[in-house]
Amino acid sequence: LERTFSIIKPDATRRNLTGAINATIEKAGLRIVAQKRILLTRAQAETFYGVHKERPFFGELVDFMISEPIVVQVLEGEDAVAKYREVMGATNPANAAEGTIRKEFALSVGENSAHGSDSLENAQIEIAQFFAGNEIV
Ligand code: ATP
Ligand code: MG
Repeated sequence: LERTFSIIKPDATRRNLTGAINATIEKAGLRIVAQKRILLTRAQAETFYGVHKERPFFGELVDFMISEPIVVQVLEGEDAVAKYREVMGATNPANAAEGTIRKEFALSVGENSAHGSDSLENAQIEIAQFFAGNEIV
């Protein structure tokens, strides 16, 4: 079994969609093996999205990610990294497939409700940024 890192983003927590998104995750066969609601610091958000720091939307992205609490999660299942990318749908909800989280819930390419790790290596790095080993059960 594989593990991936997930964030329910501020646009979704603000609209009380945590449970609806968790239902979608669980229906897809992924198990939520760790979860907590936190308010990111600016430094945490800048580190987390550091790969995008030269992009024009970086400032907007960081402001958004610290604007409200988020829910950070570890998801476990077969091919969890690729499967959760599929369950989330395309970054831009206009391009997301029917039934995906972003198609159902996202507001825009920026306020797109969910994050999922894009590789197994990044999943391990991201999980370690938010969870101790004994918090994942
Ligand atoms: P995430 O990393 O959050 O799972 P992703 O891997 O689908 O999303 P990335 O290319 O890594 O997409 O972009 C990271 C995040 O930056 C996006 O989820 C979105 O919130 C924001 N973003 C990406 N492109 C744009 C854009 N053109 N305008 C505004 N925000 C954007
Ligand atoms: Mg990404």
